[in-house]
Amino acid sequence: QAKQSGRATCEIYDEELHELIREKQILERDAALGIQKDEFSLVYQPQIDLKSGALIGLEALARWEHPVLGQVPPNKFIPIAETSPIIIELGERLLRQACTQAARWRQGGLTNVKIAVNVAARQFKDPLFVEKIKNILEQTDLKPCALELEITETMLIDDFDVVEKTLGELNALGTSVSIDDFGTGYSSLLYLSKLPFQNLKIDRSFVHNLPSDSNSVAIVTSIIAMARQLNLSVIAEGIETCEQAEFLRMNECVGGQGYLFAQPMDALQLETWLRDDFVNTFHGRLGAMNGQ
Ligand code: C2E
Ligand code: MG
Ligand code: MG
Ligand code: MG
Repeated sequence: QAKQSGRATCEIYDEELHELIREKQILERDAALGIQKDEFSLVYQPQIDLKSGALIGLEALARWEHPVLGQVPPNKFIPIAETSPIIIELGERLLRQACTQAARWRQGGLTNVKIAVNVAARQFKDPLFVEKIKNILEQTDLKPCALELEITETMLIDDFDVVEKTLGELNALGTSVSIDDFGTGYSSLLYLSKLPFQNLKIDRSFVHNLPSDSNSVAIVTSIIAMARQLNLSVIAEGIETCEQAEFLRMNECVGGQGYLFAQPMDALQLETWLRDDFVNTFHGRLGAMNGQ
């Protein structure tokens, strides 16, 4: 009996595994084609100064409109693209697209707004990475200081010397680096203290249970305190409620990002949001929250 049900489970597992492998193969195959057919695009999510309500940054997030499957989420296609050289080309294209858009917006008056672009491990390890960044900035006429690169903790531990060199070169260029999903990776405090990056993004899993969960409170306030001591700026991800925003603001977290403020939007939607919602409702609401 037990043996039988064990075998049945095994078969289901096998089927699911096959399905997953098949899906991976399809996505892998189609991604390369999708790049040529321009199926990838970017949406932008505002990053807000929690005290002043000012717009401080825009995070560029990749979207893939697959001709048959429809929208494929980045959590699905980025890891697949990461396993092949496709990510290098895709990453470069998205970076160029983000910088082009950012340059346009800065010329249009968003002078203090940074564009934050996610970088995959394979891209970051590419020996030509910094060179490519330089070229893209030149070609798009974007100041290096207007670009922020988001990398994850796990990318720091790979090869300390290479990481240190790359970060040093980006520093010299004037482009800042942010550690994304902070608190969920495996980086050591020693590495963090030795490497030249500028910003920490508190992972949304810690923000989610604020302010009622005491463990989340402990972790978030510690990250903010540590960042201050290390002279790093902090952005909290995934802010969905006023209570979360208020807690973070009271605890001196400078930046915030999340559905409470805005969803990621395409360029046109963002321009409308800036003109209508941001100025009229959101900015006013934060002002009221701050007693202004
Ligand atoms: P991430 O860089 O940590 O981006 C934040 C994710 O949280 C985004 O998901 C965003 O839409 C989502 N988010 C924003 N506010 C909220 C909120 O209030 N609540 C919740 N629950 N979620 C929120 P998205 O766009 O699906 O991207 C997922 C991940 O895929 C990103 O996480 C990033 O790791 C990766 N990714 C996206 N675009 C790129 C890219 O161009 N290159 C690379 N290498 N990775 C990318
Ligand atoms: Mg990110
Ligand atoms: Mg994140
Ligand atoms: Mg993430």
